[in-house]
Amino acid sequence: MALHLHNTLSRMVEPFTPLDPSGRKVGMYCCGPTVHDFAHIGNFRTFVFADLVRRYLDFRGYDVTHVMNITDVEDKIIGRVAEQKTTLTEYTAKYQEAFFADLKVLNCTDPHHIPKATDHIPEMIDLIGKLMERGIAYQTADQSIYFSIEKYQGCSCQYGRLVKLNFEEMRQGARVSDDDYEKESVADFALWKARVEEDGEVFWPSPWGEGRPGWHIECSAMSMKLLGKNFDLHLGGEDLIFPHHEDEIAQSEGATGEPFVKHWLHGAHLLVEGKKMSKSIGNFFVLQDLLEKGFEGREIRQLMISAHYRETFNFTLSGLEGARKAMARIDECISKLREATGDNTAEPSTEVIEKFTAALDDDLNVSSAWAVVFDWVRDCNRHLAEGVMDSTAAAAELAAWERIDTVLGVGRLEEEASAELVARMEERTEARAAKDFSRADAIRDELNTAGWVIEDTPKGPRLKRS
Ligand SMILES: [Zn+2]
Repeated sequence: MALHLHNTLSRMVEPFTPLDPSGRKVGMYCCGPTVHDFAHIGNFRTFVFADLVRRYLDFRGYDVTHVMNITDVEDKIIGRVAEQKTTLTEYTAKYQEAFFADLKVLNCTDPHHIPKATDHIPEMIDLIGKLMERGIAYQTADQSIYFSIEKYQGCSCQYGRLVKLNFEEMRQGARVSDDDYEKESVADFALWKARVEEDGEVFWPSPWGEGRPGWHIECSAMSMKLLGKNFDLHLGGEDLIFPHHEDEIAQSEGATGEPFVKHWLHGAHLLVEGKKMSKSIGNFFVLQDLLEKGFEGREIRQLMISAHYRETFNFTLSGLEGARKAMARIDECISKLREATGDNTAEPSTEVIEKFTAALDDDLNVSSAWAVVFDWVRDCNRHLAEGVMDSTAAAAELAAWERIDTVLGVGRLEEEASAELVARMEERTEARAAKDFSRADAIRDELNTAGWVIEDTPKGPRLKRS
């Protein structure tokens, strides 16, 4: 079976066929963070989901160009900059840095391009210019530029392809200037917002006067610059379907007259302990909160990708405990496989990889993929215990896991001991040579407490994680 993915445009699971005639190149855009605050774990569910898509496309042999933007200018950011009397760059830098540190903890692959909105103002102005030329955008008395839904629909385009909208309720000429609004408020939306006093120093020159871009035009400009007028995949959380993605389609297709994105993929919401995350009920977590509770990034990642991306997922602390146990089962099996493999190498065993691929080809059915992994762990453990797995067979299973883990990204790498620990180990060797066994044993115990064991190898002693 070839890869199939759900497409929000058709509301169906469809075969995934890239636009590239050779079928290899894939352009993929994921709406990145709005750096107005620390990203919460609901945000990270979307980014880990995007990472799973990226890794799986790589695994399936596609040549992926992955773009994730940084929204570093929009309403909320401007509000905070004004409140804190700081500059836009200074304010956003802190959250950007924290975001990338968190992505690393969650073992997310770096996108190939990470464009920042403030570095692409000319491209946004250019795109708005095209919409003005085509008569789809217009200027209001305050010098702002709005997108006209009526004119767009008049060019035989359809607004509202991702969500059903009630146009009868829409008041002719109604406008919305906020970056985010509800479906009920469907109206002409701002492409360029004329400078107002509250914007402080956040403004740029444009042919229509000083001002700043609307949020939606940012993603249209950055995605088309890096991936072309038409590209394969656009991802985001389901909360972005309206208005953000609907507006992205309208602006892009309105300006180019061509289809924008072939495949729209949306990740569902995350609940925490059964409820919508909220600071007032104490179930609001940023990544750091979970790390402070002693959980590891890979445990959090495992839990986030344990359920299908289109299912609302209930994230709980007991679920994290479960992820910890699941990871320990995998770690134990891998460590036994490593032991049984020794220095041997082999081609990956195909059986488990085929089953894993079949599961993910089916609209990224990750729960089935995990079931394949845990059945495989059980079988490996049994064969190892029965002594029917020789070192070549163990090497083949280990190689299969390494291949699978390029997608899951949860495996523990063989950790290298720090220089400090290695120096302690050498002190122990010297103590033994000097027949100071009580000192040697004390150092060994100290290393064991730190989670390391000393292993004798032909090349001398080395430290291994216990
Ligand atoms: Zn976006």
